[in-house]
Amino acid sequence: MTNHVDKSRKPSTLAAQALGWLDPSTNAVVPPIHTSTNYARDENYEKVGDRGYTRDENPTYEQVEALLAALEDGSDAMVFSSGMAAATTVMLSLAPGDHVIAPSIMYFGLRNWLVHVGRHWGLEVDFVPPGETAAIAAAVRPGKTKLVWVESPCNPTWDITDIEAAARVAHDAGAMLGVDSTAATPVLSRPLTLGADIVMHSGTKYLNGHGDVLAGVLVTARDDESWARMKYLRFENGGMLGAFEAWLLLRGLRTLYLRVEKSCASTMRIARHFTGHDGVAEVLYPGLPSHTGHAVAARQMHDGFGGMMSIRVKGGAGAALNVAKELKLFARATSLGGVESLVEHRATVEGEDSPFPDDLLRLSIGIEDADDLIADLEQALAATA
Ligand SMILES: *Cc1c(COP(=O)(O)O)cnc(C)c1O
Repeated sequence: MTNHVDKSRKPSTLAAQALGWLDPSTNAVVPPIHTSTNYARDENYEKVGDRGYTRDENPTYEQVEALLAALEDGSDAMVFSSGMAAATTVMLSLAPGDHVIAPSIMYFGLRNWLVHVGRHWGLEVDFVPPGETAAIAAAVRPGKTKLVWVESPCNPTWDITDIEAAARVAHDAGAMLGVDSTAATPVLSRPLTLGADIVMHSGTKYLNGHGDVLAGVLVTARDDESWARMKYLRFENGGMLGAFEAWLLLRGLRTLYLRVEKSCASTMRIARHFTGHDGVAEVLYPGLPSHTGHAVAARQMHDGFGGMMSIRVKGGAGAALNVAKELKLFARATSLGGVESLVEHRATVEGEDSPFPDDLLRLSIGIEDADDLIADLEQALAATA
């Protein structure tokens, strides 16, 4: 059997078998971890198999990158030491003076980077309300805007961006569209098939799924000049994933579809259960018809609306923090997309600059029994009322 990608297979099959690749030297079904940092040249001083140094030539990256490209229907993928290393590589592939449009609600760390590093480095950055194509259209400067960045669903309100419409607006202006698809995962939406140019993931979240790896991913629609620039930047900036982490990421991806399907189904049940609950002012989840992004999400996402939701607790910040305190099954921890459920009070984490209401609790729903999670939330709300 040769190691290639059989595109006739469904993505869940490709993921479960990690493409079905066998180790060429041993026929091992699970690949080895190549720990060597360097590769010897032959007698003629030629590289063997194009390998020299581990920073981007370690064979442990190849299977996981090929799988990620296949799952996103892209032409190539790169793994990074973190989601931030992946996202900032896209930003740094631009030139000082280029204009970037990003959503006003987005991953907090990347927003901070754009404000405190990107602008300092010379990027002109405008933030527009998430989920509004008209706001992107009003902000583009044809010829000057080089990147439109969106996150869908976006953290922690789970607003949805119409990726097809955003791609049209970006391309009309001569810009590329980059999508942070961390919360959607390739299971629920495939932005490259909707016109996006680059997809980014924090592999730390759903892709690995077990809270034990920090990793980032970029997948490109085309192997073009701008992708070559990003490859160069990964190599020279050095934000490379370690071989052990690449191996763990591949292992996590084998169960991605099962984990995401389970957590989507539970999240839908929990969101419905707490809609109209006495202790809850609002449930934010794109799977609910009441959510502003529902119509676009129903069209753009398939097999579910994600495992992330937020609730606004009646009684303000004190009540929200008390619910977090009373929860027994949800860990009070940051991050998301793992097998265990987490609760986070974003206003505390983000501090004074946080644009979010202080009665909001973000929930990452894991793969535990949904009835247990509902009962835990019920008892925490009852203890708070
Ligand atoms: C966590 C996260 C990131 C950053 O990823 P790291 O792996 O922590 O560097 C970016 N975007 C989203 C939506 C995230 O949840």
